[in-house]
Amino acid sequence: MLTVQAAQELVLRHARILPAETVALEAGLLGRVLAENVVSDLDSPPFDKALVDGFAVRSGDAGDRMVVGEITAGSEWSRPLSAGETARIMTGAPLPPGADAVVMQERVQPLEGGRIRIAEPVRPGHNVMPRGREMRRGETVLRQGQLLRPQEFGLLATVGKTAVSVIRRPLVGVLSPGDELVEPDCVPVGAQIRNSNAVMLAGQIVRAGGEPHLLGICRDDIEQLRKHIHEGLRHDMLLLSGGVSAGKLDLVPKVLTELGVQAIFHKVAMKPGKPLFFGKRETCLVFGLPGNPVSALVGFKLFVHVALNVQRGVTDCLPRLSVARLESRWRHSSDRPTYHPCRLRSTPGGWFAQPLPWFGSPDLRTVCESDGFCVFDPGTRCYEAGETVAILLSD
Ligand code: AMP
Ligand code: MG
Repeated sequence: MLTVQAAQELVLRHARILPAETVALEAGLLGRVLAENVVSDLDSPPFDKALVDGFAVRSGDAGDRMVVGEITAGSEWSRPLSAGETARIMTGAPLPPGADAVVMQERVQPLEGGRIRIAEPVRPGHNVMPRGREMRRGETVLRQGQLLRPQEFGLLATVGKTAVSVIRRPLVGVLSPGDELVEPDCVPVGAQIRNSNAVMLAGQIVRAGGEPHLLGICRDDIEQLRKHIHEGLRHDMLLLSGGVSAGKLDLVPKVLTELGVQAIFHKVAMKPGKPLFFGKRETCLVFGLPGNPVSALVGFKLFVHVALNVQRGVTDCLPRLSVARLESRWRHSSDRPTYHPCRLRSTPGGWFAQPLPWFGSPDLRTVCESDGFCVFDPGTRCYEAGETVAILLSD
């Protein structure tokens, strides 16, 4: 059976980056990826700038100085300082011509008659950010492929880039097949259960930089599945949960194939969630996740997130594993690599993990009490307290 790593390789091989679009700086660029290089239209700072509140001076002058004025941020000042002169200056204000340093207010002794005394020698350039130190006009300040975070928003604003070319957000259809499912606002009767996967997956999609489109519940019926899947294949990605394993009513793979979806894999050696379908029709990627909530959650983190990263232009696509030491001895037994929910504790010496008692793939409640998953190897063995294990972090 396919390993998790081999399955991730297949996802990377088949997923494609989406086209770019132009988006205004104010309009939700968080987590988008730049599709162009951004060049500065100015020198920053645009003038030699005071970094502290104090007195602008000519560093070469000796003796006491005469205060000839006050310069605040945003004010214009063109009169050059002559020998022995100083101007009071505020943080962010432009230095007057002739001045080359700023002495902090606290280092200055006021004297009679509008004069000041500076006790220590002044270095040229002290407390001054020279024009263009941060960036020069015409310089590339952000490159194509950069993930946009709040700090990049600030830089875009600095260079006046108010509309920017970014990769389109993947639009993801989420379909929930299952005769037993009712919407979360219904009271289930008999063997019914509420559809918990759709909103969970929608949240994961948003976290992964995609745009979820909930397509609702669909009965385990060939005709209904055909209609809904046909609709869902119009998206950049179609995500189904349930109906993909080998049960009598697991009709999803059959209908997908019938509608022209090329199956790439259908099973991955992992726990939870062995049956996991990945396929493709033209530009639409299709994932059939297992129906049990924890299997769907983990399957998303390991595979769907990777595909969304490729589509939205992120270069570092695979989930990052951390490491932690076990709080206590833990016996693990399974024929497959296992993602087991755990609590994490941060210490100055690193992370410690406590695997939680867990009732398997339907038990989402325990996962909500956890911070991540310990990754245990297949086989039966006792992990000792203090032993290092890989950790898949929860978002
Ligand atoms: P299946 O993969 O369809 O055999 O479903 C496996 C288990 O997951 C069954 O117990 C289903 O009731 C449950 N399940 C399927 N879809 C959902 C869903 N959307 N929300 C919550 N549980 C589900
Ligand atoms: Mg089912």
